[in-house]
Amino acid sequence: MPVDETQFDAVVVGAGPAGSAAALELARAGRRVALLERGPFPGSKNVYGGVVYGRILDEVAEQWWSEVPVQRWVTRRSTMMLTPTQSISVDFRSQDWSGPPHNGMTTYRADFDSWLAGKAVGAGAELITSTVATELLREDTGRIVGVRTDRPDGDLCAPVVIACDGVNSFLAKSAGLLPAADAEHHTLGVKETLALPRGVLEDRFGLGPDDGLDIEMVGCTGPIAGGGFLYTNKETVSIGLVLALSDLARSGRRPEELLAELKAHPSIAPMLRGSELKEYSAHLIPEGGYDHMPRLATDGLLLAGDAAGMCLAAGIWLEGVNFAIGSGLVAGRTAARALDRGDVTAAGLAQYRQRLADTFVLADHRRLRRAPGFVLSPRVQHEYPGLVCDFLQHLFTVDNPEPKPRLGALLRRTARRRGIKLTDLARDALAGMRAFR
Ligand SMILES: Cc1cc2nc3c(=O)[nH]c(=O)nc-3n(C[C@H](O)[C@H](O)[C@H](O)COP(=O)(O)OP(=O)(O)OC[C@H]3O[C@@H](n4cnc5c(N)ncnc54)[C@H](O)[C@@H]3O)c2cc1C
Repeated sequence: MPVDETQFDAVVVGAGPAGSAAALELARAGRRVALLERGPFPGSKNVYGGVVYGRILDEVAEQWWSEVPVQRWVTRRSTMMLTPTQSISVDFRSQDWSGPPHNGMTTYRADFDSWLAGKAVGAGAELITSTVATELLREDTGRIVGVRTDRPDGDLCAPVVIACDGVNSFLAKSAGLLPAADAEHHTLGVKETLALPRGVLEDRFGLGPDDGLDIEMVGCTGPIAGGGFLYTNKETVSIGLVLALSDLARSGRRPEELLAELKAHPSIAPMLRGSELKEYSAHLIPEGGYDHMPRLATDGLLLAGDAAGMCLAAGIWLEGVNFAIGSGLVAGRTAARALDRGDVTAAGLAQYRQRLADTFVLADHRRLRRAPGFVLSPRVQHEYPGLVCDFLQHLFTVDNPEPKPRLGALLRRTARRRGIKLTDLARDALAGMRAFR
């Protein structure tokens, strides 16, 4: 089908973090770029836990921290292991993170995505909302030359399309870059937003007026591999679970049941006492990491963000927004240079992967390629939280007139009671060190 490619230089599908970053770079390069979003405004349909690591925004705006729509600056980070009756936390706080350039911030996606899309529009991108890309347009050779949309006059033509339509990307599947279904490498994220008066929230979590808390949890998903999180906003708390999709299907459990169990846990319930449910949401997360990323470019098409599986989900880290922005920026730059050279074929766009490898996006994924598998492995998920909690419970229990236990003997005894072999423990410790090296 001959198509008029002169309408735009590029079409970016999805005004999430990846799409807005890609459109921003193309607009900065002087290119005519359409930024297509199915929601009525950017972020209106987007679900995540709540923390954005902002340093990548250095490439978006100088002193971004003075204008970004922040809820709280994260100054406290905890990692928690739970059993049904016990918990242990490693709790770190640093006031160094309360001032620029900060570290993490909690922010609502409706605010953050709108702000970021505004940067692209400010640079000259054309934002088209309430419009769904329904099909890829191809010329006779098969090269992609735009998208069909659900508007009556809706074809948007351009020599290059950047698919930033998120996890389970319809466009990447249509281009043959993603398999039709891949439950093994996806988790389901479910989240509740609960309101608490600001003063109560700050007193309860020990926070200053703008300070925020980020808790990541393991051992709170019953028989299902996954984890939990709790983040503080100004006057709300976000609490949620991330659940391995195939395990969830096999278990017959409902995600909202599991979330209710977490909220009722003796270590969590007091944090939420008196709160009021404001919102429930759910969304898929690509967890495959480096080894399961698709091919990133084909003739006339690039993938960025979750559409390319670039979310880093590795236990102590659940970072997708910064990876989406990082990859979107590089995709936008690569597309602009390919347009300059007049070669938007797969060969002309092939530099994208190398450029990404030179940034944290692929460097982190590559280095941590074993981390998602390690964190989701059965012993880490279902046996070690109990081992650590039992060990500490015995250590902290004063059994006079019994003498205090020797640590080595206590570990052996606790492992034996839990049916864990010390050789497996040693092997996993080594695997963990390798995964996070
Ligand atoms: C429960 C949960 C908790 C998470 N917690 C965190 C966290 O705390 N911190 C973090 O950094 N990451 C977190 N993530 C991951 C993070 O949300 C994603 O990695 C990130 O949003 C990816 O950005 P993106 O721009 O690639 O895709 P998205 O944010 O999904 O944006 C895709 C955009 O494309 C639009 N779109 C889709 N299809 C079409 C179409 N056909 N036509 C037009 N528009 C379309 C959508 O409306 C959307 O605006 C979490 C994810 C989940 C599910």
